[in-house]
Parts: sequence; structure tokens; C-alpha cells
Amino acid sequence: MRLARFLLPAAVLVLCAASFPAAAGFRLETLAPGVHAAVRTDPPGLMVDANCLFIVNDDDVVVVDAPEASAELITALKRLTAKPVSYVINTHWHDDHVIGNALWRRAWPQARFIAHPSLREYLPGPGAANRAGMIAGAPQAAARLQQSLDSGSNLAGQPLDEEQRASYASDVALVADYMKVVPGTPDVLPDLGVDGVLILQQGTRRIEVRRVGRGHTEADLVVWLPQERVLASGDLVVWPVPLVGAEQSHVADWAGALDGVLALKPALILPGHGPVLHDLDYVRQLHELFADITTRVRAARERGLDLEATRQAVDLENWRRRFAGDSPVRDALFRRYVIDPAVASAWKAGSP
Ligand SMILES: [Zn+2]
Repeated sequence: MRLARFLLPAAVLVLCAASFPAAAGFRLETLAPGVHAAVRTDPPGLMVDANCLFIVNDDDVVVVDAPEASAELITALKRLTAKPVSYVINTHWHDDHVIGNALWRRAWPQARFIAHPSLREYLPGPGAANRAGMIAGAPQAAARLQQSLDSGSNLAGQPLDEEQRASYASDVALVADYMKVVPGTPDVLPDLGVDGVLILQQGTRRIEVRRVGRGHTEADLVVWLPQERVLASGDLVVWPVPLVGAEQSHVADWAGALDGVLALKPALILPGHGPVLHDLDYVRQLHELFADITTRVRAARERGLDLEATRQAVDLENWRRRFAGDSPVRDALFRRYVIDPAVASAWKAGSP
């Protein structure tokens, strides 16, 4: 996900969510024969670029997500195999998952692009406006972070610790990469839309593109390999803190979408951001968080509270402690991406 996409005020924009490219900041992990994850190595921060999955089949390759670092990813894939890319699947519409489409198309002009049909309206409309806001605001935000690094004081004016220093430095680098890659890059819209299930049988490999529900955005899709029990979740699952947007996310529906993930019983999950998950504990924790917020917001509305009063009533301090622990970086992420937007998002569900 990415900041701008959530239409935050310009100052916050850049600090918000997520996705920026970084110079080859990923490592390759083999999850099953022919199934390779490119996992970002940046420390947790306000800026991110997305993970990517290469599914190398008998005669071709299917790619999940097209991050900003797609030039480096294409080079890495070509070192793994000479097989051509047949399909690129975008798990949703944020730049860090789609902006690389143009590069994948240039490398493999026959490749087809698969996503939720809403990308065809979103990317030329609100997505273009969000991207423009990001391009306008990101350099300024990066400059503020650089100032913090230079002065040794964090954004709250306290001394920077090592974790914050690494996080801010990563954010600054990711903004620089974003500004190199994104402005002027054309959108490649999906030519295959999935609003249920699409099964690709590529030789002996079965690949399922599934809509399990909406949560992070309206356009959320997951990619499921039933034989290998590997799932690419997109930003329905993001570690160490979920990325919620007050406008774009659907907190009241998110636990339902995660029910769809849990029902598949994956052995390995490649989240949209964060390391490969080897069990379902973190997904259950996210499920519990979103179900809890939804229940409490609904109860507050039923008591007649308005949105502001509901924000006061729905205290997420226990959840903050559970997700952030003693980490100031995770604390800042949880406040920005959960406490601020999640109640407003859940509130929407009860609006007429
Ligand atoms: Zn996203």
C-alpha cells in the first residue's frame, strides 16, 4: 500500500503507507519447487516497496505483483530461468503492486495482466490523483526525515534511536527510488478481471486467483497454490502492522476476508510486506484486531455516539501494545496505520 493512495493530508501522505521501491532491496527465498519469493529486506518504516512472487512452471512463469523495483526483479528472474512470463497478477491497485507492470510488459509483450476489475476505473481516476499527491509531497517528507537523521532528533523531537535511524534512512532511500521510477510511468490496466476465482493450469502447476473479500482495498485478490499450499496475500496481510486507510480500506469486512485466507490452511504465506509467515498466528491476530474494532464501533454507533465520540470510546491501547511492544518505530506505524484510520473505516460500514 502506499501513502498517497489513502488521500491523506500532504504532510502525512508521505509518511503513511507504503510502498516505495528500493535499490534491489530484496532477497530471493524458494518456498516450493519453482516458487520463489522476492522478499523486501527494508526495516519496517513508513515507506515500503512490495514483495513479489515468481511461479516458474513447466513452460512459463507467472508473477504476482509488480513493485517499483521491477527492473531489478526482472533481472533476478532472468538469472533463474529463460522461460517467458505469461501472466502478471496485481493483488490490488496500489503503486507498489502495479507500477512495474509497464516494465514487465516491455520485457514480455505477450504477458497478460490479471487483477480485480475495479483497477480499470481506479488507476486512471483516484489512483492518478493519489499518485500526483505522492509525487508532490514525498520529497518534502523525505527531506524532513533526512533533517531528523542529520540532527539526531526524531519527528517528535526526541533523540533518535538505532531502530528509528535505520527506518528513517530506509524511508529516505525508498522515496528517492519512488521518484526515480514512478513519475511518467504509464499504467498497464488488467486485461483479465477476477471477481471470484480464476484457475490457471500452467502445465502441472495449478494457480488460483481468488477474491476472498475486501479489506485493505476494494480490489484485494490473493493467489493460492493448492498443491504447494503457498499463498500470496497481497496487503490483506502486512507485517509488522496492518496498513489501513480510512477511505480505501474496509475494516468491517477485513476479518471476513481473512476467514477466506484461514480456510485455505496455507503452510506458507507471502504477505504484501514483511517476511514469509510459516504459521497462521499473525493472520489470526489480524483477524481478532479487525473483528474487535468492528464490534466495538458498531456498539458505539448503536449507543448513538458520533464518529468523534466513537474514536474516544474505542481505545486501542491494548492492541497497540500487542503489535508495537517497546518499539518506537512500530508504535508510530500502529498509530498512523491503525489507530488513526481504522475506527473511521469501520464506521463507514454503518453509514447510510
Ligand atoms: Zn497496498
